[in-house]
Amino acid sequence: MTATTTKTAKTAAERLVDAGRALVAAGLSPGSSGNVSVRDGEQLLMTGTGTMLGSLTVDDLSVLALDGTVLAGPKPSKEVALHLALYLKNPGHRVVVHVHSPSAVALSCLEPWSEHCAVPPLTPYSLMRVGQVPLLPFVAPGDPAMGSLVTDSPLPFRAALLSNHGSVVSGEDVDRAVLGAVEVEEACRIALLTQGADRRLIPADQVAAITAASGMPWTGPTALG
Ligand code: ZN
Repeated sequence: MTATTTKTAKTAAERLVDAGRALVAAGLSPGSSGNVSVRDGEQLLMTGTGTMLGSLTVDDLSVLALDGTVLAGPKPSKEVALHLALYLKNPGHRVVVHVHSPSAVALSCLEPWSEHCAVPPLTPYSLMRVGQVPLLPFVAPGDPAMGSLVTDSPLPFRAALLSNHGSVVSGEDVDRAVLGAVEVEEACRIALLTQGADRRLIPADQVAAITAASGMPWTGPTALG
């Protein structure tokens, strides 16, 4: 990479490779787990099955149509339906990140804090980065039903926990998706560390104000009232 290379000059494939490396650097991709996609117009670039996110190259990427048809490259991750559903739900988003990071997985095995958000509002950062994070019901990895869990949910969201599985986050660009996944992991870690303690949540009116100011989804009671 030269000093003159800018983010805007990067291809979608290069941005996806960057996202994979950033997730590994953040400790969010144990083993070869996790997958990333980048939407480029009417096509999707996605990591292949079992790809190590830290050593991705642009040749490792599948090219798909938005209906999931593979156009070129290796077989995509079996979680392609999940990615396609996030792009449908959030049409302005260009990157989807799905990881099996430890704290997100652990919290996804517990009952959710509320129906609209699995993670209690303990710190402002995940509220600012992603807003509410609902818990989606369990389906086996690769089950196409994973996509309809996202598209059928009446809740607006850009991040969710998948029961007994991990997290998924979408964003307008690589930074927003990757930093969203980092904040979801951190919020889940704090929730686990404080589990069972007499913890103080951020007041509901403040949660509503923070998410509104950040443009992030929150459909808790105070946001409606
Ligand atoms: Zn998965």
